[in-house]
Amino acid sequence: MAVRDFRKDFPIFEGSDYIYFDNAATSQRPRQVIEAIDDFYKKSNANPLRGLYDLSVDATNRYEGARDIVARFLNADKSCEIIFTRNTTESMNLIAYSYGLSNLKEGDEIVISVMEHHSNILPWQMVCKKTGAKLVYLEIDDEGVISKEEYEKKITKNTKIVSIGHVSNVMGVTNPIKEISDYAHKMGAVMVVDGAQSAPHMKVDVKKLGADFFAFSGHKLMAPMGIGVLYVKKDILDNMDPFLTGGEMIEYVTRYDATWAELPHKFEAGTVNAAGAVGLGRAIEYLEEVGFDYIADREHILTKRMMDAMNDLKYIKIYGSKDPGKHCGIVTFVVDGVHPHDTASILNEDHVCIRAGHHCAQPLMQFLNVGSTARASLYFYNTEEEVDRFIDALSGVRKVMGYGD
Ligand code: PMP
Repeated sequence: MAVRDFRKDFPIFEGSDYIYFDNAATSQRPRQVIEAIDDFYKKSNANPLRGLYDLSVDATNRYEGARDIVARFLNADKSCEIIFTRNTTESMNLIAYSYGLSNLKEGDEIVISVMEHHSNILPWQMVCKKTGAKLVYLEIDDEGVISKEEYEKKITKNTKIVSIGHVSNVMGVTNPIKEISDYAHKMGAVMVVDGAQSAPHMKVDVKKLGADFFAFSGHKLMAPMGIGVLYVKKDILDNMDPFLTGGEMIEYVTRYDATWAELPHKFEAGTVNAAGAVGLGRAIEYLEEVGFDYIADREHILTKRMMDAMNDLKYIKIYGSKDPGKHCGIVTFVVDGVHPHDTASILNEDHVCIRAGHHCAQPLMQFLNVGSTARASLYFYNTEEEVDRFIDALSGVRKVMGYGD
């Protein structure tokens, strides 16, 4: 059976010659998601969770329906384990403020890795400063791998929280979350997983992963910007204080005190992003129509084609594994003698969109001993022809900068 041409679902590619290789920053949206948001505003728009009239009930049903879809997507036990946030960054801050601040004391340790995104570093730095807990880093090898020896050495009885990215947004490596989580639990710690770069590319099962907390952003998996998710295991969530307080997250308020609403509303203060959640629900359904096997196949084919051609250009250094299958569609590189910002600007002249900079991972840049890098990141809707045009454009970068090759 011929595979459906999913690329046709994306209006942004129609009549455009832009090559969009910045998917790790944000993905594009298919018509189906755009229409779902449009439909919500045209037919169901009212403030959900508070109105007693039909329109508000409809908005509530669609919002809560999206929560059910996310719960099924992550294989959570209950929908109330799903909290809607703005993005992964807010999800990580919620954990740090609501769980970290009240469960840590001086001498306790939080273990993260050197390749974390800033949103999985800064909330923990803040918690450490306020509680006296200590931040401990797992080191990696040249390919971005965290060894068993390393995590068994650093995770100890003092460790209370282990927080690791499922897939690195720079190295593209998939971390052994299940193994790390098993060990963390053995030592009495909880396991936090930053799933921003994994949820768009692979089947996530929070139970199989052993994740007590799992965060991801809608916008990286074709949903609108401004909607994110935090999964928290129910027995942990039951004992957590709210992060933000105000409207809709209360049961009863007196002049000097308040009691909290039921889960998960206790963690969703103020008017929620209902259209965003509906768009996220539709994006997840779309992702499942495409299928993770197809996504992995396409990303592997395209990444291999890209890395093989880049390896022929001797002045290019690629970071991470030599195996394209271990990159999750992310190829981070530098062109010898050319600043990554210049590389990205020169490629832009050929309508190639890539990312250049520190990728919100400065401790990793320090480890790699570079100020910044360039990054091309692929998704299933990219094509072989785009990879070839990218390589053509890349081959001309040094010439533009005055080199002879
Ligand atoms: N973690 C990782 C691994 C990421 O790649 C990103 C986004 N670049 C984030 C967290 C933060 O995501 P957001 O900006 O959507 O909060």
